[in-house]
Amino acid sequence: MQPFGYVEPRTSDEALRLAREHPDARFLAGGTTLVDLMKSGVMQPTLLIDVNRLPGLDAIGLTEDALAIGALARMSDVASHPGVREQAPGLSESLLVAASGQLRNMASIGGNLLQRTRCVYFRDRHFPCNKRVPGTGCSAIGGENRNLAVLGTSEHCIANYPGDFAVMLAALDGVVHLDGPSGARSVVAAGFHYLPGGTPEIETVVGAGEIVTGVTLPTGPLSRWSHYLKVRDRSSYEYASVSVAVAAEFAGDGTILDARLALGGLAAVPWRVTPAAALLAGRRPDDARTLARLVEAALDGARPQTGNAYKLPQARAAIGRALRTLADRHAEVRT
Ligand SMILES: Cc1cc2nc3c(=O)[nH]c(=O)nc-3n(C[C@H](O)[C@H](O)[C@H](O)COP(=O)(O)OP(=O)(O)OC[C@H]3O[C@@H](n4cnc5c(N)ncnc54)[C@H](O)[C@@H]3O)c2cc1C
Repeated sequence: MQPFGYVEPRTSDEALRLAREHPDARFLAGGTTLVDLMKSGVMQPTLLIDVNRLPGLDAIGLTEDALAIGALARMSDVASHPGVREQAPGLSESLLVAASGQLRNMASIGGNLLQRTRCVYFRDRHFPCNKRVPGTGCSAIGGENRNLAVLGTSEHCIANYPGDFAVMLAALDGVVHLDGPSGARSVVAAGFHYLPGGTPEIETVVGAGEIVTGVTLPTGPLSRWSHYLKVRDRSSYEYASVSVAVAAEFAGDGTILDARLALGGLAAVPWRVTPAAALLAGRRPDDARTLARLVEAALDGARPQTGNAYKLPQARAAIGRALRTLADRHAEVRT
């Protein structure tokens, strides 16, 4: 591991000043992604700015119409928070199916959003990888790509975003808040991650010296009827091959009034299916023709590789199952 410095600022101003003065520095939260990547030499910051002592960034708060989660809140604390479980059960589900209990106790929400791809070629410095070293090529195209992206890929990169929480956050119209050299700003969660295009090394909107301070999401019928379904090779401690984040507002007779859908495991970004609201509004969740149209819109433009075409039928089945689960839960409460 390359030698590095370590500082532990006590205020956000100090943390931002340190980041400004040290362009190669990285913020350290739980360290469950960063330290791994430093050990393998994939990330080589010269300075770690430990943000764990910054005041107020671990709060989880509920107002009448919104949920606010600080960037330093731990995954397990968010998952078990009564307000989150009641107002956005899908968000809690997305955290509980991620990683392991120990990791969730360490890992922060900010770090979770910023976790890096699990593509084996990105994580192994012996192989060319445009994301790790721009211009060297993509070993995954034609290589081991079983768990990589089928949507939004480019000729330069087919890595996928592996996280769960960000997928549910994107479906729930979440917003990510940042602070940095040019002041505070907010971006919609569905636009926080970038598609690879010709610059796969640029993964998110986070600019030099910027810190993620937290996320917010509106609460209401949509968030209260939310569900996260994760499909994976084994039932714990495994990343998604496909995941589905769904939220729907139902009429008294079970018809859908409004809906949101996002997919995980399939692209470099949480894949928000924008036509979902228009396709599902006024329909019943068990309507076969509606489901077929939804699946077609969701997977439009998919470009599977040699090893990951299985994700398409898996995604088709998962979308239907997630919707049915949500509708069944709603029907149970109605009767
Ligand atoms: C074995 C294993 C299995 C896993 N399985 C899953 C899974 O199934 N689903 C899933 O979603 N995740 C999974 N993860 C990923 C895990 O959730 C992330 O490692 C974790 O959430 C990262 O949070 P952290 O606080 O440890 O981040 P860190 O490792 O501290 O930081 C990660 C990155 O974010 C940056 N950063 C951290 N906080 C901030 C901030 N506030 N502002 C700006 N930059 C910041 C760091 O500089 C670094 O680049 C798994 C991880 C492991 C090791």
